[in-house]
Amino acid sequence: MPEDSRPDTGVRSEPATAEVGSDRPLAPRWQRVVSSRWLYKTIFLLYFIFAVVQLLRFEKWARGSGPYVPRPESVAGMLPIGHFTSFFAWVRGGGWDMLLPAGLVIILMSLAVSLAFKRGFCGWICPVGTVWELFAALGRRLFGRNVRIPRWLDLAGRGFRYLLASLFMFALMVVPLSEAVGFRQLPYMWTADLKIVHLMAQPSWLAVAGLAAVLSVLFGPVWCRYLCPLGGLYSSVGAASPCAVSRDAEICIHCGRCAQVCHAFVDPSKVSRVHAPECDGCMDCVKECPVDGCLEAKAFSRVRIAPWVWPLLVIGLWLIIFGFASATGNWTSHIPPEQYRQVIQAGILEQRTQGFLE
Ligand code: SF4
Ligand code: SF4
Ligand code: SF4
Repeated sequence: MPEDSRPDTGVRSEPATAEVGSDRPLAPRWQRVVSSRWLYKTIFLLYFIFAVVQLLRFEKWARGSGPYVPRPESVAGMLPIGHFTSFFAWVRGGGWDMLLPAGLVIILMSLAVSLAFKRGFCGWICPVGTVWELFAALGRRLFGRNVRIPRWLDLAGRGFRYLLASLFMFALMVVPLSEAVGFRQLPYMWTADLKIVHLMAQPSWLAVAGLAAVLSVLFGPVWCRYLCPLGGLYSSVGAASPCAVSRDAEICIHCGRCAQVCHAFVDPSKVSRVHAPECDGCMDCVKECPVDGCLEAKAFSRVRIAPWVWPLLVIGLWLIIFGFASATGNWTSHIPPEQYRQVIQAGILEQRTQGFLE
């Protein structure tokens, strides 16, 4: 497609021959709001906190000390490893999990947005990542920047994350199918989200979280960059994304601003297309580039995607899959609340539910 006939969805109004070193005019306010990553991440974080509160209220009801509150299905997102077991069981022909289907749907949504939009789950949705990013932002506010650790250590840390991701996925893929299917039928699995919530209030967990927070203030979100196996998986998937940031080398003025604002320590000014698995499509570099048309998000290196359109596509894809799952009865758990009540009251940990399933 000729350069001048590309669909222009961009927010830039200055010509591509912008004077060297000049700034482009600010995008309209509504576009800046719509393209604000913090807006979406805050909404998802607040919703996550709301879901946890609802889960605790549901537990209170189950223990007989409060009114009935529906159990929020979205808390399944707290058990990614457990639901990945179920996901691989499904892929291998073990059937769809009708007991806790929301977990499978969340995995599918995360994989889909990460594949389509450069690790879009990490960039625009994940509430856990948002917490660590908040601490990293606090560090930048306090000290002006996050400290970059030596390159060799950074590479080793990132390698460790991919190793963790590979080991987890391998372990989940080789577990016998009958065991994987049986795992999701354990009442332990039904209430594991509650156990995690209670665990988060334990001093040992708070100490680890506090350490991670301090490290994030100093070095950026260390959990996301070096430890999170899911981040490793989504990065690998995102590397194959058809949508990515592209640079027009002919009009680049090598000002270095794109590298300066990149929270993932990627340098877009060195490449014609950002393949780096750490890129989460945050669009900060695109918005910061002072030369119109130099740095742009593109699908298949051709179709331009404006910075304010990108998050709408990410969230839109997420909601479309969610809506489809809800409309087809593949989101809500088929475990009756009374069954949950019995499990929570009895504190059953590892009892199979054959009676219920038969
Ligand atoms: S790396 Fe892990 S914790 Fe961080 S944003 Fe991605 S999935 Fe969330
Ligand atoms: S691509 Fe980066 S280095 Fe080149 S003009 Fe844009 S911000 Fe400056
Ligand atoms: S600033 Fe650019 S290169 Fe860095 S993560 Fe965001 S989109 Fe990717």
